[in-house]
Amino acid sequence: MDQEKMIAGIRTFLEGIGAQFENGHLDETPERVARAWAGELLAGYRTDPAEALTWTPARDGGGPVLVRDIPLASVCVHHLLPFVGVAHVAYLPGTRLAGLSKIGRVVEALARRLQIQERLTEQIAATLDQVLEPHGVLVLLEAEHTCMTLRGARMQNSRLSTLAGRGSLENDPAARGEILQLLGRTP
Ligand code: ZN
Repeated sequence: MDQEKMIAGIRTFLEGIGAQFENGHLDETPERVARAWAGELLAGYRTDPAEALTWTPARDGGGPVLVRDIPLASVCVHHLLPFVGVAHVAYLPGTRLAGLSKIGRVVEALARRLQIQERLTEQIAATLDQVLEPHGVLVLLEAEHTCMTLRGARMQNSRLSTLAGRGSLENDPAARGEILQLLGRTP
């Protein structure tokens, strides 16, 4: 990431606004903003999600694994405004079991980029599917988009839910319904 370019861009953006502020509060803003975006908001670009997902061998056909309420913070690619919520991830293991914290790392690596929620949901499901080779994967994201809640539509407190499945949790409505129920959602 080219932070010098980001700093110059933010300076131009502030000039475009015509922003003035007393006591020098704006002086370091371009540097501060660039550091926050490169260092945290877009930190996911530094992590390969597939590499972050380490696993241990297991006997095939164990029960479903569910990780609920993984915190999620991302940036909408259309407005550069954050969307924030939770991810619920479930899979039916084959012979590979992920460390639970590793699933959170995958969510983090893919979320902390410029994103669209539907695409993010699919990418999380695809990464688990590729690396763990499970019998099925289901990913449910629920997030509040500040580009919706702060802007014209003013849909306060409205949340967007997106779902992505692989394997039997994509194709088998009964298996999928069971997992959604375990997640506290009616199928
Ligand atoms: Zn948006």
